[in-house]
Amino acid sequence: MIRAGFGYDIHRLVSGRKLYLGGLEIPFPKGLLGHSDGDCLVHALVDALLGASGGEDIGRLFPDTDPRFKDIRSTALIRAVMTRLKKRGFRVVQVDSVIVAEKPKLAPYIPRMKKVLAPLLGLKEDWVGIKAKTQEGLGVVGRGQAVQCWALALIRRTRKRNSSIEKKRD
Ligand code: MG
Repeated sequence: MIRAGFGYDIHRLVSGRKLYLGGLEIPFPKGLLGHSDGDCLVHALVDALLGASGGEDIGRLFPDTDPRFKDIRSTALIRAVMTRLKKRGFRVVQVDSVIVAEKPKLAPYIPRMKKVLAPLLGLKEDWVGIKAKTQEGLGVVGRGQAVQCWALALIRRTRKRNSSIEKKRD
């Protein structure tokens, strides 16, 4: 059975921070404010994965009051979540996502984001969807004050819970 999870995140874009998105450092005069590296695409993905597995959410699992997660690269959070999912017998089938940012233009970075994220998720790159859009100048994202991300994750259990019973029936 396939299970689906949905994730969303928004972070303020501020001066004096490096910009991390989709596991990449992207050259830009501003970066995303956050307890971690602020990578809101990865945060949305992590929440989608956790939602699909019926588990916790990112805030409960990696609280922003915990000094262990201060300035942590968010790709490490994906690794931690993948370990949890694997322990429970899940594997990722597919992810899809949208980044909404007025600037910088992100399309040129998408192939590299897929290269970074696909192996972390145990997927081929063409099963990792990433689209970049602008907000057409509207609202906080349109004014370049924030970046917003949505993500969907599909996962399935690879181990049958009652496989020994089923074998006996066979
Ligand atoms: Mg976040």
